[in-house]
Amino acid sequence: MKVAIAHNNLPKTLTVVSRLRKLLHQYRLPIDQKYPDVVITVGGDGTFISAVHRYLDQIDSVRFIGVHTGHLGFYTDWRNFDIDKMVQVLAREQAETVDYPLLEVKFYQADGSIETRLAVNESTVKRMSQTLEADVFIERTLFENFRGDGLCIATPLGSTAYSKSLGGAVIQPDLRVLQMTEIASINNQVFRTLAAPMVIAPEEWITVKFKPAQDLVLTIDGKLVPAAGVNQISYRISTHRIQFDRFGHHHFWTRVQDSFIGMPHASI
Ligand code: NAP
Repeated sequence: MKVAIAHNNLPKTLTVVSRLRKLLHQYRLPIDQKYPDVVITVGGDGTFISAVHRYLDQIDSVRFIGVHTGHLGFYTDWRNFDIDKMVQVLAREQAETVDYPLLEVKFYQADGSIETRLAVNESTVKRMSQTLEADVFIERTLFENFRGDGLCIATPLGSTAYSKSLGGAVIQPDLRVLQMTEIASINNQVFRTLAAPMVIAPEEWITVKFKPAQDLVLTIDGKLVPAAGVNQISYRISTHRIQFDRFGHHHFWTRVQDSFIGMPHASI
């Protein structure tokens, strides 16, 4: 089994990475940064997302493991002081693999060209200065005329990130759905939107059509995407999925409680 390591450069992280390299050597797990079977990320959720984008062309064959060196993250299962145990489990190939849906995003240019990208958390369409005016279609049917700051279309994994800040529901990540949330919509007699988050089945396309604009801002997982000439974007759940080695101790709702509520755990 070949392992790649992706990390941020915080001093605490670098200490963990140095220990991790020694452990991988000790357990005869070779490092291959180019074509790994498993990518171990050390840092936060941001570090994890960047690593996934680096290996997107191998997404169907690569598994991911997140080690957090900051606060508890949604993509980072293992704490820095647990890595000895993690490498032991990895070497014995005892990990449980789970996979979750990604978002497929198609950017259409006015000249007819199409660029397809994948998102782990979400994709947003916004305007910097003026409001975005857009027609929103579900499949081929016009659903609403949107006017406001923008729209966010998220995966279940991304439902605890930007989407949640926009009032979206937190969605258990094994559900194959996508969620659209509005960013500051204007509702009047001309522009009328649902003004509530929508959760959509995986085979349905959401399409947003608008006029190309200089101040258009498009993002995938928080990173800017070239927006010049884009006049339509379509979203649906991808046939590609992201695979995690889970080691059997992950419970999504405990993670949600730890991150957002922080109450002591109790069982019935
Ligand atoms: P960033 O702006 O440096 O950090 C965004 C924060 O979101 C970090 O605290 C990050 O956790 C956290 N995060 C990322 N994915 C998450 C998830 N699935 N569930 C819960 N929290 C999550 O950007 P970044 O670190 O590169 O992350 C990109 C993400 O930032 C985008 O995909 C978007 O979801 C999010 N974002 C949120 C807002 C908002 O809520 N208003 C605005 C813009 C972007 P760590 O500290 O562990 O890295």
